[in-house]
Amino acid sequence: MPAPPPMASPHHVVFASSNPGKIREVSRLVLRRGWKVIVQSEFGVEGVEESASTFVENAILKARAAAAASGLPAIADDSGLMVDALGGAPGVRSARFAGEGASDEENVRALLSLMEDTGDEGREARFVCVVVYLRDAGDPTPLIGYGAWRGRILRAPRGREGFGYDPVFLSIEHGVSAAEMSLGAKNACSHRAKAFEALLAQIPAPRSRANAEEQGGA
Ligand code: IMP
Repeated sequence: MPAPPPMASPHHVVFASSNPGKIREVSRLVLRRGWKVIVQSEFGVEGVEESASTFVENAILKARAAAAASGLPAIADDSGLMVDALGGAPGVRSARFAGEGASDEENVRALLSLMEDTGDEGREARFVCVVVYLRDAGDPTPLIGYGAWRGRILRAPRGREGFGYDPVFLSIEHGVSAAEMSLGAKNACSHRAKAFEALLAQIPAPRSRANAEEQGGA
């Protein structure tokens, strides 16, 4: 039986993910806005089947399940790696590229072996992220933010930070792999950071008490 959910306040949002790497990044990305992330496992949600063929549909499925179980506003990100030479694969199948339940290492190995004969010019890729915000499970107007991060697929893993395909994703701008970047550095330029920036721009920041009083009450 799941533990009772923690006390919620208006700035609490449930995050529809069980991926520790994503949870770390997202918790930090929304902190600036004063939001506190509660992960869906606190409400007994383990995840939904990501059955759709687009990032946006999968993100909505995840957010809706988390909002329904928690009664809180929910955010979900659906993201993945798209390699030009592979026609956009692994894409929405990034988490299970080497098979259902595959580890990050297995997915990376599958990608590298598929690209063994791909020359430098074919190794262009991008991480993409779609983040969805639902005010409640029945919200008919989800807010959506998109972000992309261009890079190149390395021939061997580099670095120990991050998660997923980070060790084989070279940020051309920085000349290092995403797994060689600190959390702060990755959060300053990643697909996820850009998607959250686009999302948060659609949600007015709460007025501070001082502002509200100056303007005659909240
Ligand atoms: P999903 O969004 O839970 O379907 O999974 C996304 C998958 O894409 C992850 O499991 C990773 O394999 C990959 N991915 C998405 N974002 C990143 C990232 O920032 N770094 C490395 N891999 C990522």
